[in-house]
Amino acid sequence: VASGLDAIEISLRALGCKAGDKVLTTPISAFATTLAILKLGAAPVFVDTDDYGLIDFDACERLLPGRSDIRFFVPVHLYGHALDPGRIGRMRERFGVAVVEDCAQSIGARFGGRATGSAGSMAATSFYPTKNLGALGDGGAVLTDGESLAAKARTLRDYGQSAKYVHDETGYNSRLDELQAAILRRAHLPRLAHWTEVRRRVARLYDEGISNAAAPAMGSPVGSESCRHLYPVLVEPARKGEFRAWLQANGIASGEHYPTPIPVQKALSGVPFEAPYGFANATRICASEVSLPIHPYLTDDEAGQVIRAVNSWRG
Ligand SMILES: *Cc1c(COP(=O)(O)O)cnc(C)c1O
Repeated sequence: VASGLDAIEISLRALGCKAGDKVLTTPISAFATTLAILKLGAAPVFVDTDDYGLIDFDACERLLPGRSDIRFFVPVHLYGHALDPGRIGRMRERFGVAVVEDCAQSIGARFGGRATGSAGSMAATSFYPTKNLGALGDGGAVLTDGESLAAKARTLRDYGQSAKYVHDETGYNSRLDELQAAILRRAHLPRLAHWTEVRRRVARLYDEGISNAAAPAMGSPVGSESCRHLYPVLVEPARKGEFRAWLQANGIASGEHYPTPIPVQKALSGVPFEAPYGFANATRICASEVSLPIHPYLTDDEAGQVIRAVNSWRG
């Protein structure tokens, strides 16, 4: 498909998600996760995150028993960390929710040896250039082990065309550009394992080297073998700007993922959504999170430079 956004929207539609349906999801992600839900006219139901910025499964399992109106679930393997596939599977079995895993940041990540994207009914990923497996332009993919779901997704991405000039529904123009497909297949996919290895080495250097209590690593859940899409640290919200300016002064770029919880974005005002338990954790994390440089071309020396700058900041 043409993007990660389309991959999520098409997956949800293939599973039968339509206007008025309720979709459980997380308040911290790329906006596209929620946008895919909104574009279908469905209503996001936000459950707060845990201390790792990932959706809180315990809160989901508290909410769902009384909420048979929530039929869909879009968990996000954020930062490259893998959510527990056992918990995702249990949500499907216990509550009958159809699951679309958002794997845009998790290519190469595993949990207990199991790749992300294999626990849901479908999975969506993005080949946007900044992702771990990026093209040189936009792209995305839908993954499923269901034959009829795959057929449905193929139809939807191609103007709703089930056979040549036979249009069964109002689909999309969401082809993966062939040039991007060739670049991904021939040039980038063969390098992915090595790229992931380098990301993990950089993350290990940071894990071992960063010792500033004012900018601790955010950490990741036990069992997650992260593909280290991002490396988040947490600083006191009032000093985030100062910390980022300090890094900048030391020649180090930083990012924020993400500065604003999705439910408070202006695009959500006036559209139906719920946040039954609030999103206090997500709000705290959004206010505190700073992403350190991490990518396959970062050298050990450069990682050392980042570590020295972080450790010498007086928070
Ligand atoms: C990038 C991203 C998307 C959207 O992918 P696009 O290809 O940019 O549309 C969705 N979810 C997450 C978690 C992402 O990081």
